Amino acid sequence: MHHMKPFAFLLTLCLMTAAVAREPMKALIVDGQNNHKVWPETTKRMKSYLEETGLFTVDVATAAPKGTDPDFKPNFSDYAVVVSNFGHGAAAWPEETQKAFEEYVAGGGGFVVVHAADNSFPEWPAYNEMIGLGGWGGRNEKSGPYVYTNDKGDVIRDTSPGRGGSHGKQWEFPVVIRDKDHPITAGMPLEWKHAQDELYDRLRGPAVNMQILATAESQSTMRHEPMIFTIAYEKGRVFHTPMGHAEYSVECVGFIATFQRGTEWAATGKVTQKLPDDFPTADKASSRKFQE
Ligand SMILES: [Zn+2]
Repeated sequence: MHHMKPFAFLLTLCLMTAAVAREPMKALIVDGQNNHKVWPETTKRMKSYLEETGLFTVDVATAAPKGTDPDFKPNFSDYAVVVSNFGHGAAAWPEETQKAFEEYVAGGGGFVVVHAADNSFPEWPAYNEMIGLGGWGGRNEKSGPYVYTNDKGDVIRDTSPGRGGSHGKQWEFPVVIRDKDHPITAGMPLEWKHAQDELYDRLRGPAVNMQILATAESQSTMRHEPMIFTIAYEKGRVFHTPMGHAEYSVECVGFIATFQRGTEWAATGKVTQKLPDDFPTADKASSRKFQE
């Protein structure tokens, strides 16, 4: 029965492939310089949120606290996805590290931008393209348009002059889904209440190949500001959320699930995670107190 052999071989190959698919992916969180002094706490939470999916093992690469750290050279290509918890005022990465990161994302790497990571590196053109929109650090009309949606959900690109980046006082704000078919937002209530956070407004940037998945209406601008969005950077996938100011903001189940799904999507282009039962609703925010 000569034909049994190739069949057995094929079966073995299938089983091996299935086993490989269950192997967790490698994620890297980069941090070390952030105007949000709480960053070690938010990194700890984000690491735990990714690990609890069972999809990721997580390493953290922390730059020296001040100035350009010549030893900050993570091996990006070892990872399926890189999450930035850098913030406002972060010193430039060494040139070699910037180049390696550009090549990593352009070549199909995943990148996740959380809150003040969109304040970082205003002078780095490729970084601004990856994040789509940014704020502060001297960003203005030269950085690109303001991007938001109007009441009808049309995307507005507003080139009028002015500073990039602002926020009102922290509050529990409604997040409105603008694309219910995207893997990251699929199944979410069309409106859900986010825990206390800063609602970033007036972000601006190149916004090339950017898709808005969810917005929140700023009480300062009265615009629907992007809250969950994606950017295609060459072959790479970028997931960006301006949410996540403090530990109580990232403990929101809406943030946790969005972050877990967005990170999986940035890594693979798919989302296999179910929405948790304690996901917030339009009327009720929902948080999980972090346990070490
Ligand atoms: Zn903040």
